[in-house]
Amino acid sequence: MKNRILSLKKQRNALILAHNYQPLAVQDIADHVGDSLQLARIASDVNGHDMVIFAGVKFMAEMASVLADDTPVYIPDPEALCPLASYCSAERVRKAKEHHPGAPAVVYVNTTAETKSECDIICTSSNAVDVVESLRTAKVLFGPDVNLARYTRTQTDTEIVDIAEDGHCYVHQKFDVKEIQRLKEEYPNATLLVHPECPPDVQDVADIVGSTGKMAEYVAQSDDEAFIIATEVGLVDQLRNNHPNKVIIAANENAICRDMKKTSLEKILHILEEQPAENLVTVPKDMRGKVRLVLERMNRVGLKESPVSQVPSATH
Ligand code: SF4
Repeated sequence: MKNRILSLKKQRNALILAHNYQPLAVQDIADHVGDSLQLARIASDVNGHDMVIFAGVKFMAEMASVLADDTPVYIPDPEALCPLASYCSAERVRKAKEHHPGAPAVVYVNTTAETKSECDIICTSSNAVDVVESLRTAKVLFGPDVNLARYTRTQTDTEIVDIAEDGHCYVHQKFDVKEIQRLKEEYPNATLLVHPECPPDVQDVADIVGSTGKMAEYVAQSDDEAFIIATEVGLVDQLRNNHPNKVIIAANENAICRDMKKTSLEKILHILEEQPAENLVTVPKDMRGKVRLVLERMNRVGLKESPVSQVPSATH
């Protein structure tokens, strides 16, 4: 199956992107594997390819579809959604803005295209702090993940108001500080890497809090020999595969995202063979422009001017 996919991928001039939480067999046939920010940057420059297959959940494929312009983007399973995204409807963003006039809305990438079209700028778990600071404002609205909001609060003086006080990822909520303390005692020399969607008490005992991309980079560059990883097991599998000489310990082997695991090699092969219309990801025309704008604002973070003040006509 792997050889058939690789051969058809070449014939179709397809680019396969896979998130770090995808099954290892899927990561293995991808052109690029990474976190949301890394894959968003790649999706914005897919010239030269005739199609993109995004192995991930729907909001990621939508984002790629907006950034990839006319290149068609397919998702292996159209039912692969992110439950976290359901906490932050476009209506909730509008209401938060009504209650806090003038405060920009920073929306996590794990949201629908409709929700993104209501916000002022997108962030990912890699760049949430930089995005908030880039706005140079006393207060921002932030959602939907309350744990990422809490982590961001620890890194900035900007007031952060939750858009969705109940927003959380059920996978990262599974990490238990007592079990992690036990692992730290069992592996006293291990470095503990924690995703910012984990609960606050788990973040507080971490050596490093960061996105999956940051974790992968840290493990690759570190001279440490052992690492406890508190995020979805797809990254744990990837690290074990890439670093056979290092000890990679899962903080919870049951931290499995059901939707990320809906992708399979069979489904990817089917797309390459048939290009089925039901797997093609589209974002309504009237939203594409707004979503693209807020994604591009995120990508501009790091420039001297505030991303929102640079393009005031597009602020809602
Ligand atoms: S791991 Fe959590 S945030 Fe990531 S896609 Fe799954 S449910 Fe959504």
